[in-house]
Amino acid sequence: MSVLEIKGLHVSVEGKEILKGVDLVLKTGEVHAVMGPNGTGKSTLSAAVMGHPSYTVTQGEILLDGENVLEMEVDERARAGLFLAVQYPSEIAGITNAEFMRAAINARRDDEDKMPVMQFIRKLDEKLALLDMPEEMAERYLNEGFSGGEKKRNEILQLMMIEPTFAILDEIDSGLDIDALQVVAKGVNAMRGEGFGAMIITHYQRLLNYIVPDVVHIMMGGKIALTGGPELAQRLEKEGYKGISEELGLQI
Ligand code: ADP
Ligand code: MG
Ligand code: MG
Repeated sequence: MSVLEIKGLHVSVEGKEILKGVDLVLKTGEVHAVMGPNGTGKSTLSAAVMGHPSYTVTQGEILLDGENVLEMEVDERARAGLFLAVQYPSEIAGITNAEFMRAAINARRDDEDKMPVMQFIRKLDEKLALLDMPEEMAERYLNEGFSGGEKKRNEILQLMMIEPTFAILDEIDSGLDIDALQVVAKGVNAMRGEGFGAMIITHYQRLLNYIVPDVVHIMMGGKIALTGGPELAQRLEKEGYKGISEELGLQI
């Protein structure tokens, strides 16, 4: 079992404190949802875990199986088994989607253990089929000219190919129609198991009908305000963030 521990995390962006003491423990075998109103710091949390240079950790710790993640460079974090599907995937001309995934897979392997090309292609074809994606998507430049929905689907393709230990999926459901949402959920559900843990960041309960989380956290004002089971997401759908913040006496 692996554990990603976030302890008393404070993060500032451009001198402004956004995260004000976040505690969260994610283990392999678990899926956690992180919900919360816009601007509360959900993307900031994911950026801090992955080491985005604009986000400064001023206090607290992030540990992966006891190792200090904050001392690792971005590429070391990925090699250690962390994966982030960002809210707005960037387009990278000059590198194909397949080349990118193969490089990412092999970066986590020793020289004598690189994935053979045929094995890579077989795996790629299998995942493309599962995600209802045309084969040519793999040969296109990374995210270049992809529609919003194709970008999100492609993040899940990368997830399934790279097979990280922990994935953070930041608003993977935004802008998806119901068919694409189901495909994305199918991919994430296929990853579920003893060797994998996920943090799913979302505004809406809708995705959580398809990916039923083990734990739901509600983030408000830069902290985890409330933690519970899947029923918490249902409650949020009924009462909104306002109802919960009033009950807790918090500002949204
Ligand atoms: P959420 O994902 O919950 O909607 P974010 O983490 O994106 O929230 O943003 C939290 C706050 O931090 C917002 O007030 C936002 O404007 C600010 N913020 C986030 N990233 C940056 C940045 N790169 N530069 C300036 N402000 C930022
Ligand atoms: Mg947002
Ligand atoms: Mg966000």
